[in-house]
Amino acid sequence: MRRAGRVVRETLELVRGLVKPGATTLDLEKAAEAHIKAAGAKPAFKGYHGFPCVLCTSVNSEVVHGIPSQKRVLKEGDIVSVDCGAIVEGFFGDAAITVPVGQKIDPDTARLVRVTEASLHAGIAAVRPGATLGDVGAAVQGVVEAEGFSVVRDFVGHGIGVHMHEDPQVPNFGEAGRGMKLKAGMVIAIEPMVNAGKPDVMVLEDGWTAVAADGSMSAHFEHTVAVTATGSRILTD
Ligand code: MG
Ligand code: MG
Repeated sequence: MRRAGRVVRETLELVRGLVKPGATTLDLEKAAEAHIKAAGAKPAFKGYHGFPCVLCTSVNSEVVHGIPSQKRVLKEGDIVSVDCGAIVEGFFGDAAITVPVGQKIDPDTARLVRVTEASLHAGIAAVRPGATLGDVGAAVQGVVEAEGFSVVRDFVGHGIGVHMHEDPQVPNFGEAGRGMKLKAGMVIAIEPMVNAGKPDVMVLEDGWTAVAADGSMSAHFEHTVAVTATGSRILTD
């Protein structure tokens, strides 16, 4: 899984370097697909329940599952969330980043991106044997809501291993002390999706793209995280 995670990270960093005004989300897709193939890995998303691409690219108020397209040209001031999964010898890695486009990002949007990433790391910091999924969710939620943003509830993180989505579900909200206890050897994907406005989402007519129902900006960060004997280890860093 560390090897799959490494391919995911390399792909995301490659894509981050390509995000600029005038690039299309299909440009990102093509580079990602070539890299995953060159690394000897398989893309985890392409063909998953019929999803057509190796990346999900979700721009501005799009929350998750946006489909790369030649028609989607990135503009100065946009943010784009890029989600990537890869398979190495049957094991999965899954991670996401949100990247500003250009230099002129609205301060509140920049704060949304910063806080979403910080909430992911607060969730990871709660991972250790004996901690509960509620501890993880509460840690994420606390960081997000302290800044006046909303945790999306319709999508959650997940166990991951020989499938991309395994039990348990890993919500980005919850109550400390509640839920399943973590044990060494478990691997979970923690992935806060955070809206600047209300938490509600709706899915567009393409059947995939989830957007903030109120049109507010949305950010997404994700890591695949192993529970170790003493704490946790990020497999997609
Ligand atoms: Mg993902
Ligand atoms: Mg995931």
